[in-house]
Amino acid sequence: MIIKNAKIVTPKKIIMKGYIEIKNDVIISINEGNTNLSGIDIKGSWIMPGFIDGHVHGGYGVDFENGDKNRFEIFSKNVSKEGVTRYFQATVANSDEDNIKYFKDFKDFMKNDSVGSKCEGVHLEGPFISKDKKGAHDELLLTQPDVKLAQKWNDISGNNIKIITYASDLQDGSFTKYCINNNIIPSAGHSNMLASEFEKDYLLGMRHVCHLFNGMSGIDQRRPGLAAAALNHSDVLVEVISDGVHINEELLKLIYKIKGPDYISIITDSMNAKGLKDGKYKLGKLEVIKDGIIVRLTSNNALAGAGATYDHNVRYYKKVCNINMRDLAKMTSGNIAKQMKLENTGSIEIGKLADIVVLDKNLKVSMTIREGKIIYKS
Ligand SMILES: [Zn+2]
Repeated sequence: MIIKNAKIVTPKKIIMKGYIEIKNDVIISINEGNTNLSGIDIKGSWIMPGFIDGHVHGGYGVDFENGDKNRFEIFSKNVSKEGVTRYFQATVANSDEDNIKYFKDFKDFMKNDSVGSKCEGVHLEGPFISKDKKGAHDELLLTQPDVKLAQKWNDISGNNIKIITYASDLQDGSFTKYCINNNIIPSAGHSNMLASEFEKDYLLGMRHVCHLFNGMSGIDQRRPGLAAAALNHSDVLVEVISDGVHINEELLKLIYKIKGPDYISIITDSMNAKGLKDGKYKLGKLEVIKDGIIVRLTSNNALAGAGATYDHNVRYYKKVCNINMRDLAKMTSGNIAKQMKLENTGSIEIGKLADIVVLDKNLKVSMTIREGKIIYKS
């Protein structure tokens, strides 16, 4: 397959007019200029690496934990509209019983290749989080970081838990060591810790922070919290929900200024109501109300996950910080691919998998290609 008349975003440079060649599932050439070879003419649109959402709870009516067995497939098919080629399914805090059921279903799903975007595993977000910063997680289900539970769920899932967010101040380092020794990315989040309390786990190798500023202690001048620690360590990758709702744009600018393009990963944190009409829905067992891209708990009005699509968050962050396309590609794809050791994707390079999103001049998704197959076309 050839895609021509394209603006191509590669790690080294942007080719303002060029074409790429894909053979089977791999990019085999990236070229400047025109070609007479037949191919898909994208009329000056952008070619970017497919987006990778490291933290998503659902959308299009799908709640990963509940529903019929086809729910994972339904999501995978629909999320390709957002330019997402790969993603990590995030869980909210569940009971042991519910997680056992969920991880069994999930293991079955992961045995087969999906038709749309590819799920790369689970981002376990609860229940090892702090009651003080529980966000939309059910307080009654929260518990201390527990190696035995994590190990059990990971076994049931077929070793498909790839990242765990927990309040790292609620453990002595042993949970962090367990994650690192089992190829699970330890992620600090949903915590009221002091910035200094992050250090012991940083020294053990913790380099990931869950949705920066959301669900954590902030940067109070006399009691700096996890957000301050995340910003102070230049090699910690921070997830950012850049929908314009979860973080004020002045702070989005500050994050970009401090972290730079190499240590930000844009996520959605979106829940099942994404892509559906406004109204009342459930997040786990909690009732939420969706109004546009905003989703709140009906009980206390707290933000409850998100309703924006991945491409929205990309456009928003780009607009607010005037980010160039090469840097943007790191924030959407390259950085998280590196963090999660997805070595053959995350950038437009010869020899990498043909995971591609085609964006028009307004950065709206017109086509999504995963491993050389068109999985979405507008
Ligand atoms: Zn989440």
